Amino acid sequence: IKRNHYNVCIIGGGITGTALAYFLAKLGENSVAIFEKSYLSSGSTGRCAGGIRQQWSTRSNVRLAMRSVKLFERYKEDVGMDIEYYQGGYLILSYDEFEAQQFEQNVKMQREEGLEVEILSPRQVKERFPYVNTEGLVLATFCQTDGHANPHKAVIGYALAAQRMGVDIYTHTEVLGVDVQNGSVVGVETSRGYVKCNVVVNATGPWSREVGMMAGVDLPTESYRHQILVTEPLENFFPMMAISFSGNFYMRQTMHGQFIMGQGDKDEKPGINYNVTFKFEKELVEKMVKVFPFLKNLRVIRHWSGMYNMSPDAQPIIGQSKKVKGYYYAVGYSGHGFMVAPAVAEALAELILFGKTLHTDISYLDVERFSGRVIEREKNVV
Ligand code: FAD
Repeated sequence: IKRNHYNVCIIGGGITGTALAYFLAKLGENSVAIFEKSYLSSGSTGRCAGGIRQQWSTRSNVRLAMRSVKLFERYKEDVGMDIEYYQGGYLILSYDEFEAQQFEQNVKMQREEGLEVEILSPRQVKERFPYVNTEGLVLATFCQTDGHANPHKAVIGYALAAQRMGVDIYTHTEVLGVDVQNGSVVGVETSRGYVKCNVVVNATGPWSREVGMMAGVDLPTESYRHQILVTEPLENFFPMMAISFSGNFYMRQTMHGQFIMGQGDKDEKPGINYNVTFKFEKELVEKMVKVFPFLKNLRVIRHWSGMYNMSPDAQPIIGQSKKVKGYYYAVGYSGHGFMVAPAVAEALAELILFGKTLHTDISYLDVERFSGRVIEREKNVV
């Protein structure tokens, strides 16, 4: 460890930790360290699908995602790396009458927020995307400015830019404890020694609850396994990301031609589990070949799993602890943290340095919302 004191110690080197370090350094904070127990993007970020969508059912997620899209659009110029960001749109398919009605409500709210979203009948879907089988489809929505990017590159881009601005990154360095004295954070115990600090940020995704408890901060998150697979490549022709909550699937084609796809499993039990099952592969492949017949005969080349860090209302938990001074958190993204992390990191950096946010209001996303306030659950989750 190069210094025995940092102003800000970030725990976790995924998209949240690296983006936060980048925004802190950009705003002039020159004493920042990231501690990552494994390698950068080894957590959920490096295992995710890389989808970036603004079509959400809660206003808060729409706002976070819209601000993030602005930041992704400028990523290459600002951060200095090509992350294969592509705005091919997101097609959301509904196979359920009730859900379709909700989509109409969602679109109304999304348009109020300034998002351009289309509602498509099954016939219109067929005309626009002839390679999609529309059997059983009730309705779809489409937003052209949604898209996807390569999550590994996004992490590395933020990390390198942060390092250039003076941030120290310690990989294979685990935080074992957070030192709190008289109600304030004063340091962290790491596997490579003790480091003094004024601010600690919990950006540990699936491990957020236990890292919260290191400082006595109770963050009500639980982690659930999600499996995902990739096929061999086909020539590029499928520009958008397709997703269905009632159909329980999502899929996109990478810039290299491979298809990445996944589904949720309601029977999963909480806890870190990186095993994979044949059941997942069989169920998903059979379903996807029906909706996207061109996938027939394409081979699956790899299948892995990652963790969704779920919060009680499926929206991120971001803020500053009221109990422990200097303890901040950005956790519980519930399966959509890659796409909202740039806006979250920007807002958190502002909150840490200026005591208030300048671009996105996150005040209603702190952990206090679970004590008493009525919470609105995000519905658009696979
Ligand atoms: P992580 O990437 O999990 O990083 C946390 C890091 O903290 C890890 O690297 C871990 O090693 C480190 N850490 C933990 N404890 C300690 C410790 N004590 N000391 C030091 N380091 C520690 N999101 C989207 O937006 N779009 C998608 O299409 C999408 N698809 C997904 C598909 C799957 C299969 C999965 C599993 C997730 C998906 N997500 C998606 C969700 C997304 O991956 C996460 O919300 C996001 O990556 C969270 O980023 P993070 O940086 O907060 O956490």
